[in-house]
Amino acid sequence: MVDLKKLRESTEKIINRDDVKYVIGWEKGTHGFQVTPLFITSSDDVERLIFNPLCVHNLTVFLMLQEKLPLRKGAEEDKRKVGVIVKGCDSRAIVQIIQEKGLNRDDVVIIGIPCTGVIDPKKINKKFPNQTKTVDIDEDANNFVIKIDGKTHKVPKEELLMDKCKQCQFPNPIIYDVLVGSEIKTTGKPNYKDVESFEKKSLKEKWEYWEKQFEKCIRCYACRNVCPMCYCKECMVDQLNPQWIRRSVNVSENTAWNIMRAFHLAGRCIDCGECERVCPAEIPLVKLNKKLEKEVLELFDYRAGLDVDVKPLLSMFKPDDPEEFIL
Ligand code: SF4
Ligand code: SF4
Ligand code: SF4
Repeated sequence: MVDLKKLRESTEKIINRDDVKYVIGWEKGTHGFQVTPLFITSSDDVERLIFNPLCVHNLTVFLMLQEKLPLRKGAEEDKRKVGVIVKGCDSRAIVQIIQEKGLNRDDVVIIGIPCTGVIDPKKINKKFPNQTKTVDIDEDANNFVIKIDGKTHKVPKEELLMDKCKQCQFPNPIIYDVLVGSEIKTTGKPNYKDVESFEKKSLKEKWEYWEKQFEKCIRCYACRNVCPMCYCKECMVDQLNPQWIRRSVNVSENTAWNIMRAFHLAGRCIDCGECERVCPAEIPLVKLNKKLEKEVLELFDYRAGLDVDVKPLLSMFKPDDPEEFIL
């Protein structure tokens, strides 16, 4: 568990700098197990900052969502830096966006937290249903310690952890200006067990599976809106001229949307799992992302968001790159 006092002290130092406009962190929500993003604009806000295993959001999405309003005559753009608090997986988004030249390293101040894993909101809400009052949460080496209505529940971590955390390879932020906490040892290797077992299915079985999943899609685009890597000024699905994908919600258009989303993230997805977390239709989007990640690793020996000095996959080639898929 992170030392909250140190996290707040580090954040306060950063928000008091003249060259920082706000720092993005988390605060306790108003309902049940909810935690919400917090925009800290002055040192008065710092005491609302928290970090606990419910801080699941990847806050780097907000770096690319800054509203750029038209300036009044004579006014100057606020070019101060934005601060953001990141876990290991979140930090890969910043690295990948810098690789893509979507963000300048100097425009962001990064507070990194070595992370021992976060709770899956769906799992905890299922275990403790209809929880409306806010709760206090802590952890020891093997358990989450949850205080509800004065009663303490110890739940084995394995039961509530997000699936991604059970096989986390990057608990330590890849990039940061300040690290709060000590680095965590990891022996994690890429794990594609789910993808490999799915690959064994016949084409018909695969299609039937995905058709059933895509039928459920309501085209809310929450998966896109939460994804730090979906930062195009205008998303292809919103374009009307030409209209690449019709707005009607049916399996054909839904399939086009989901395939397009997955392919636009090939070699770019940093595996934060946010798209799947927010999908109201519970479509296993990470399974699609993981398949593409595995292909990219096997074909090009490339993983997204690990080194700011490496060119993004689609901007480079090696003379010995495999070409058998080119018709
Ligand atoms: S995947 Fe790793 S870094 Fe990300 S929340 Fe889980 S344990 Fe933390
Ligand atoms: S979040 Fe789920 S339901 Fe919404 S558009 Fe994405 S895949 Fe479809
Ligand atoms: S596609 Fe999903 S898992 Fe990948 S970066 Fe976007 S939100 Fe994260």
